[in-house]
Amino acid sequence: MDGKNTTLQPVVHFCIILCIVLLTSLEANAHMWRRQADAGPGTTKNIAEIFQGRCHEHIQCLQTDQCNRRPKVINCTAIWIEFLGAFQHQNPCNTSADVYDDVLTMAVPITPDDQTLFWSGLLDAALNVARVSMQYRILEESLPGYMANQLVWCGDDDPASVDGINYEKCPEWGACENETSFRFWQAASREFSRQATGKVSVALNAHRDGGAFRNTSVFATVELPNLNPDTVTMVEILLVPDITSTEEGEKCGKGSIKELERRLDVAGLPWICTYDPLEFRYIQCTTLENPLEYKACRGDKQESQRAKEETIIVGAVLGGVILILIIVVAILLVQSCKRLTRLDDSQLMIPT
Ligand code: NAD
Repeated sequence: MDGKNTTLQPVVHFCIILCIVLLTSLEANAHMWRRQADAGPGTTKNIAEIFQGRCHEHIQCLQTDQCNRRPKVINCTAIWIEFLGAFQHQNPCNTSADVYDDVLTMAVPITPDDQTLFWSGLLDAALNVARVSMQYRILEESLPGYMANQLVWCGDDDPASVDGINYEKCPEWGACENETSFRFWQAASREFSRQATGKVSVALNAHRDGGAFRNTSVFATVELPNLNPDTVTMVEILLVPDITSTEEGEKCGKGSIKELERRLDVAGLPWICTYDPLEFRYIQCTTLENPLEYKACRGDKQESQRAKEETIIVGAVLGGVILILIIVVAILLVQSCKRLTRLDDSQLMIPT
């Protein structure tokens, strides 16, 4: 028995040392982001007021199109307290995957049948299209997405911190694996995808470096796997080119889109793919200073209208010139006729 203990002792010691080394390096990794020169900005100032204000605005449908008239009673203060509890006084790189689950039970993302729109690589265009079109709803228009969109937040685990919120700096997106705001968007995206029904759409940037469908994106890793083939009837891929680019970008059935189409086939989700959807083309035109400089913004109808107008102008100028010529010729003719008549008269008065 004693002999066995003596043999085990070095193994136990080795394991303890290994555990200490591992824990220390994990702890050091979790704090690494602080030393990175590119650490992002700190928590958005007045985040509590903004978050709760947006919540009240959303549930009262003050931005009419960006809300859902829901029967469930929403308590904005309770949602904020739950949200704050998920990161306050905590290391922002040590967030567990389920920490925002209760927030998302209180503030569920909801979209009507056939209107869910996912996006990857083009937030602004997707947000603008969704705002003006009744056809599409994105996560950022649903309650949880609306409250959190464009906010920065992270906790401070320094015991000296009074409110446990870091207003100086937060980790950059992707600076650490278990980053707190990334955890929130992962959870919100998962719930957003689970509730989607009917036809769903995904807008992808055809000019994105490395491919429009990015394997590591939230769309690829969270939203796509959480689509329910029993309730989703069709996935519409909207491949959006940058209208200012001279290159065409990725096309349906090619490159990374082919991989997306394959994954949809495997998941049993029927799909269609549209290159250069008009809503996205025209919304991009509205953001340009001189949109008519780009062929994509003139559109076929406008182009032929412009050609028609040009024909009318050229016709009018030509018509004017011809009319002037006719008048001049007529005047000349009249004058020469008069001259001839005078000549005839003078010839008739020949002196005898
Ligand atoms: P994506 O790669 O375009 O990233 C989405 C968002 O994540 C960006 O708009 C930005 O806010 C943030 N992000 C990503 N990479 C970043 C970087 N290097 N630096 C700073 N910020 C960065 O697209 P995705 O990963 O497929 O996620 C989009 C989908 O997931 C959407 O359908 C949406 O529902 C949801 N989502 C929304 C947000 C948001 O901030 N509103 C964030 C993540 C996910």
